[in-house]
Amino acid sequence: MHKFDSGVIIQEYVNIKDYSTLKIGGQFRYFTIINFIKDLNSLYAIAQSELKYKNIPIFILGGGSNIVFSDGVLNILALKIEIKGFDIINENDDCIDIKIGGGENWDEIVQKTIDMNLSGFESLSAIPGTVGAGPVQNIGAYGAEVKDTILEVEVFDIEKGSISIILNKDCKFGYRDSIFKNEAKGKYIITSVVYRLNKLTSPKVLLGSSSPARPRVRSGGDEGKRGARPSQEVLSASLPQFKNFSPALSYPGVLKYFEENNIKNPTLKEIRTAIINIRKEKLPNPNEIPNVGSFFKNPIILKESFSAISRTYGGMPYFDAGKDKTTRQDMVKIPAGWLIENAGLKGKSFGNISVYDKNALILINNGNATVDDVMVAKNKIIKTIEEKFGITLEQEPETL
Ligand SMILES: Cc1cc2nc3c(=O)[nH]c(=O)nc-3n(C[C@H](O)[C@H](O)[C@H](O)COP(=O)(O)OP(=O)(O)OC[C@H]3O[C@@H](n4cnc5c(N)ncnc54)[C@H](O)[C@@H]3O)c2cc1C
Repeated sequence: MHKFDSGVIIQEYVNIKDYSTLKIGGQFRYFTIINFIKDLNSLYAIAQSELKYKNIPIFILGGGSNIVFSDGVLNILALKIEIKGFDIINENDDCIDIKIGGGENWDEIVQKTIDMNLSGFESLSAIPGTVGAGPVQNIGAYGAEVKDTILEVEVFDIEKGSISIILNKDCKFGYRDSIFKNEAKGKYIITSVVYRLNKLTSPKVLLGSSSPARPRVRSGGDEGKRGARPSQEVLSASLPQFKNFSPALSYPGVLKYFEENNIKNPTLKEIRTAIINIRKEKLPNPNEIPNVGSFFKNPIILKESFSAISRTYGGMPYFDAGKDKTTRQDMVKIPAGWLIENAGLKGKSFGNISVYDKNALILINNGNATVDDVMVAKNKIIKTIEEKFGITLEQEPETL
């Protein structure tokens, strides 16, 4: 234990493996758990004095399911965010706005909202980690992205020591990407997220498309306390375009599951169960087989280049990825797992790291792997794919 001058007690030399789903890493030099926003105020004082003086950066930690940690002692202060909360702030006949604490467990929240018959999160069932990490990489699965449910993100600005609100449109969400991974990296601690979920009145909503009406403001919200909360007009102007509330229903694997199980009009609970079961087949449980989920992003390339490559490699799957923002050329997304599998790497071991034999997109720790083992495996995979397909894979999880 280390007691800073401000009185905040911080643990020292904490084993990282206990906070990493890949079970790799040395020790955090300093570590503390943040349960309340007021804890951050005390930390701000430390950040401005002792940490600055000692040149110790702050690192924000959720469930450690999307980070590859280094070995040895990391000279950082790791803040594990455990801020809780689940408050309905606006509601009308069609939809409901809920403010959820950054330290809540994501999948427990998905379960809870489905129990309330609210649609929006069901396609994102069973993703490990916390609510606060969701906007960071704009978590996604089965055609859904969390950005399509987010109204605003509440953050603690580490430099200024104050709370502010970032609207959806200002988060610069992209494919597994956001402002929090780029220009705002390390600047903000996400303390809570406000989502808009759809009240499910008819199963038809699941299969069609609709646009929820503007919410009524409930009395007793926390306006005033922070002063800077945007008006409803500003909020509505920043709304994402809500399209299909259950994107998973356009996913062939999910539809096949319903067909095989003779389910005609799936309920939210059935969609969640389907996704959990499908994921179980493909994704190793990190509590049994250490991993960080998909190790590579699905590459997005020019449709033109794809056509040329696919002439050599017939059967290469792809998904439409819209137009390039600057050149306006057509782009396609290619499953990285297909590339790795078709390069003959599925199930292959590189020392203590293996490509998972049921899903080539996952790297697993066979026990005692180091960060160097991970990097050797990663670089060999990238090189092999480049040589075979001329496509460069990009690592998805962060390395610290
Ligand atoms: C088996 C498995 C399956 C997975 N499946 C998916 C999937 O389908 N789709 C998908 O998108 N991801 C998936 N992932 C990756 C991972 O679960 C998500 O990225 C998740 O959101 C990470 O949450 P976490 O709390 O563990 O974040 P961490 O790994 O602790 O942190 C990830 C990043 O977010 C930052 N961060 C965390 N909390 C905060 C906060 N409160 N404020 C500011 N920054 C913060 C960290 O600094 C770090 O940069 C999977 C991982 C595993 C192990």
